[in-house]
Amino acid sequence: MSTTVNKPRGRQFFANPGPTNIPDSVLRALDRPSIDFHDPDFVEVYDAAFAGVKRVLQTKHHLFMYNASGHGAWEASLTNLLSPGDAILVVESGYFSEEWANMARAHGLDVHLVSCDWRRGVDIAQVQAALAADKTHAIKAVCVVHNETATGMMLPLDEIRAAIDAAKHPALFLVDTISSLGSLDFRMDEWKIDCVVGGSQKGLMLPTGMSFTGVSDKGMEAHSRAKLPRFYFDWMLMEKRAQKSFIGTIPVNMFFGLRESIRLLEEEGLANVYARHTRLAEATRRAVQVWAGNNGPQLYCTNPSRYSDSVTAILMPEGYSSDLVRNTARNRFNVSLGGGLGVLGGKIFRIGHLGDLNEPMLLGALSAVEMALRMNNIPHGRGGVDAAMDYLATN
Ligand code: PLP
Repeated sequence: MSTTVNKPRGRQFFANPGPTNIPDSVLRALDRPSIDFHDPDFVEVYDAAFAGVKRVLQTKHHLFMYNASGHGAWEASLTNLLSPGDAILVVESGYFSEEWANMARAHGLDVHLVSCDWRRGVDIAQVQAALAADKTHAIKAVCVVHNETATGMMLPLDEIRAAIDAAKHPALFLVDTISSLGSLDFRMDEWKIDCVVGGSQKGLMLPTGMSFTGVSDKGMEAHSRAKLPRFYFDWMLMEKRAQKSFIGTIPVNMFFGLRESIRLLEEEGLANVYARHTRLAEATRRAVQVWAGNNGPQLYCTNPSRYSDSVTAILMPEGYSSDLVRNTARNRFNVSLGGGLGVLGGKIFRIGHLGDLNEPMLLGALSAVEMALRMNNIPHGRGGVDAAMDYLATN
């Protein structure tokens, strides 16, 4: 007797905010035999990919890379720049700013928070006020998550830079660009960012497992005085290695993929990549704004000037778990959506629209959500997908 298993067929539509879709040509580039990481053939690939990451970061300064997910680069940013007991100012944005702050506390740092309503986002005047009030310059670093993946909110880094300058404060400017790099406009040198934290699995369209920090000259100077214990992430040790990065074996296959993903980004042109993200994000928001009718799910972010163009978080109506939508989308339609993190678990779901994505892929995900709302009798306005199509067909 044969048993049948109800496995979804067709390609999975991946609308997660990370990891993201890996383009076929990147998969092909990753799929190759091992090579010695000192082999000149590999060094050529490494150098090309390394220089490419700097171009995407828009920096001429230093870059250090790690075999670690984004958490590793977070840890590198703190331990390389700070000393036990140092005060830092964390700009609250949501789950990921909380986690970075928790990591800092675990390393014995004195964390000060500029807090906010997660749906509206921080008032930048408060960042300036907190720095202006620090007359002794006890605060050594300001930490900001550029794009809060957990809430779908983007923070204006140029305005935060201006607030630090207006307060005439010498603190280092640390930025997490994990879900913005390669998706949203980002300019490390122009915005005088001293340390940028990035990861492989979002806008760079690679598997998870590699992360990096871009560091300014001011950051390197602070590093020479920083006393937090470190080894695996130590920039000074890395500078002594032949490849000036990585402690330990270099993930060679990742570099073949990275070289290809940088080629794809530059073939499209970074400005066009950002414009594509803005367009797909706006189509997503138009759909959600229709679903919000009849007391349906609504945009979690209530501050239009802070909407994220790489991920949209959607707040469920009271009494309906977001797992209903996610489970139906995955089990019936083979569409993977992001869930709510931490205190937002069950309350929101997230549509990732970053990385290797086009209109039909997005519309497939939006259609699955709209069908899931209907099938679970969740109140909503009908016609969200139509609104997205209207927007995409005319913009
Ligand atoms: N920061 C942000 C903004 C993120 O979105 C994530 C992960 O999604 C992280 C940090 C943590 O990175 P990882 O999960 O790669 O360790």
